[in-house]
Amino acid sequence: MTETNKVALVTGANKGIGYEIVRGLAKRGVTVLLGARDAGRRDAAVAKLAAEGLDVTGVPLDVTDAASVEAAAKTIEERHGRLDILVNNAGITGERSQAPGAGAVAEVRRVFDVNVFGVIAVTDAMLPLLRRAAGARVVNMSSSVGSLADMTSDDSMLRDMPAALGYPVSKAALNAVTAQYAKHLRDEGIPVNSVCPGYTATDLNGFSGHRTPEQGAAIAIEMALAGADGPTAGFFDDAGRVAW
Ligand code: NAP
Repeated sequence: MTETNKVALVTGANKGIGYEIVRGLAKRGVTVLLGARDAGRRDAAVAKLAAEGLDVTGVPLDVTDAASVEAAAKTIEERHGRLDILVNNAGITGERSQAPGAGAVAEVRRVFDVNVFGVIAVTDAMLPLLRRAAGARVVNMSSSVGSLADMTSDDSMLRDMPAALGYPVSKAALNAVTAQYAKHLRDEGIPVNSVCPGYTATDLNGFSGHRTPEQGAAIAIEMALAGADGPTAGFFDDAGRVAW
């Protein structure tokens, strides 16, 4: 099945899971805009995908920079006039010392800037373009480490992870952001969902994950291409629903 005529933007897509989301969507026939903040890394990623014969164009995009977000929206409007799929994938973990009591406010703020405020800024900027598409959808790349159910469960596989105020809390906040956009856009028929890629070998974790970036990208691609009867206001991984 192909998805020709659809236009997608993936943020933080020069490497890792984002790159594979771009690749997977492009292979399904979607015209994909590869959002990345660094020109060299962006061009290199686009060149690799173009060598595979895929329809991918680079778009300069630093999700923490208001002018960059605005310029990306303007570029997409000029080139395509609409946006069918937005995948908010860019994310950082921040540095190690995010424990309660460690005085990590500045670092927590830096992580939130990308993982939460960046998503709000990009989604708001793209909303007018999403509204012009028939059947638009938004996918937010979250993580099961942001699940409140998991954080507070003695049975969680993540129980022994050290407490941290940055990354897991930012993903919990991102899930709430998903729920609020889903609520706001429900009557307009624009689904908004969070997904978790699973523990994936990327730069984010020093390539310690046990899944490939291609496997990590699968659930985001599935949600990005879900039909009109697809879910909204949900949190999903490959195995189905993830507890909030
Ligand atoms: P990655 O390889 O480190 O990729 C992260 C991407 O985000 C890079 O392209 C990076 O660009 C970009 N980025 C960072 N700050 C940005 C900014 N201000 N503006 C625009 N782009 C920015 O990590 P990944 O594992 O693929 O992560 C992708 C997403 O999956 C993240 O949201 C992450 O939280 C989530 N996730 C990953 C795992 C995992 O096991 N890997 C598990 C759960 C969730 P640069 O190259 O310029 O830094």
